[in-house]
Amino acid sequence: MATTDRYPRQATTLALAHALSAAERGLAVIPLSRTKLPALRSPHRDTPEPAGPPCHGECGRFGHGVYDASTDPARIRALFAAAPWATGYGIACGLPPHHLIGVDLDTKSDTDSTAALRELALRHLFTIPPTVVVLTPSGGRHLWLTGPPDVVVPNSAGRLAPGIDIRGAGGYLVGPGSRTAHGVYATAPGTAHLTPAPCPRSLLRLLLPPPRSSRPGLGSAAGGAHGRGLVQFVLAAHEGQRNTRLFWAACRAYEDGIGPELTEDLVDAAVRTGLTAREARGTITSAARMTAHRPEP
Ligand SMILES: [Zn+2]
Repeated sequence: MATTDRYPRQATTLALAHALSAAERGLAVIPLSRTKLPALRSPHRDTPEPAGPPCHGECGRFGHGVYDASTDPARIRALFAAAPWATGYGIACGLPPHHLIGVDLDTKSDTDSTAALRELALRHLFTIPPTVVVLTPSGGRHLWLTGPPDVVVPNSAGRLAPGIDIRGAGGYLVGPGSRTAHGVYATAPGTAHLTPAPCPRSLLRLLLPPPRSSRPGLGSAAGGAHGRGLVQFVLAAHEGQRNTRLFWAACRAYEDGIGPELTEDLVDAAVRTGLTAREARGTITSAARMTAHRPEP
């Protein structure tokens, strides 16, 4: 957008102001670029990380995506100062105190995600409580809900229904007031001052991965076709996405109950993309730990 190109500093100042005000409400934020991606690139992108679990900021530098997120105004200012091209901010999901869950209702022409959510609500007997709603430049809506502290809601795309994405642990929502290449994100009228409402229990159940015991079909060696798909996903990683892809695939594998038997295949695949076996095992262990927190079935 011409305005942003001509006045990038104003866009950054505005984004910072919105980010600070979100942080005041207890929401941890990171600067985003016009592409909605974290504005700061990984400090490890050109150098292989030392063996062990991937760095999530332990090195003390910025550039670890959602792991940089903070509610501390001084740190937020420092993040934005390091990213003067930022025009928006992301709000980390799944973190205390709100344990934010984002329900992202897409408006692609071939899906009616709003109708799909209504149908789910009727079938599973829940109502979406009045809560913060953010309107996206493409006509979509983000519903902000909160989760219980002892539950890790995974990110998912289209799992609940076509056109409905869930932003959970490790994910982020583009904050209202952000400017992207497609336009501005804004709270829906009358929702800006609401407190994010608790996610209804029956909706929460739908957001969690099924308990392992209910997926006997996937218990075969190397996780069947699903497992092979995850291994392929890791093999196709370019440098720079190796750890991310491995972590993602390992999370899916553990969610679906095939983590343990797929581990060796995932390690092999990761080694072929250039990670060391030790790095790969560290990443898979993190994924296992992250998906281990689930409520009793
Ligand atoms: Zn680091």
